[in-house]
Amino acid sequence: MKALEERILRDGKCFEGGILKVDNFINHQMDPILMKSMAVEFVRRFASTDINKVLTIEASGIAPAIMVGYLLELPVVFAKKSVPNTMQNMLSTSVYSFTKERSYNVCVNRDYIHEGDKILFIDDFLANGNAAKGIIDLVKQADAELVGMGFLIEKAFQHGGDYLREQGIHVESLAIIESLDNCRIKIRH
Ligand code: 5GP
Repeated sequence: MKALEERILRDGKCFEGGILKVDNFINHQMDPILMKSMAVEFVRRFASTDINKVLTIEASGIAPAIMVGYLLELPVVFAKKSVPNTMQNMLSTSVYSFTKERSYNVCVNRDYIHEGDKILFIDDFLANGNAAKGIIDLVKQADAELVGMGFLIEKAFQHGGDYLREQGIHVESLAIIESLDNCRIKIRH
């Protein structure tokens, strides 16, 4: 998606270890106009997909997910990164965080994902695919169906996208980063 690619090239910053910072428009300060355009693009790309629920992971997936849910007029559920002790009836899985270099639990209340739900997962980044694998597990535990996964930015050099596509999952990424070698952002067109 051209507008996102141009914004990444303009405002994105590279960090050691293949990290791209987009704090200026996605991860800290947020650009709602761009966020809306990205959601419109997801709606277009998943137009032929039967969806009844949007799922994401807190925190940075919530903004794009709520925009998609708003446009599709569908409920949006965010998986929580800590298991609240007030919550019973939980589905939970462990996810390894590439940026934080540790594992954490991700959980969703069974009241909000049901058998037969057709789930579109939306997140900010796809890197190694660990968060996505956790979501696949949660959806499976709920006997729901994962009908697609949409990411704002995919880092192709970390190969999570290859894994998901090999599983036959419909993956859409609005910008694909080919490499961040030598702290140069190279976008795949
Ligand atoms: P994965 O689980 O696919 O390895 O990583 C995806 C998660 O890690 C995303 O939800 C995102 O929060 C975080 N992440 C991975 N790579 C980056 C990156 O380069 N920049 C930022 N800001 N977050 C990242």
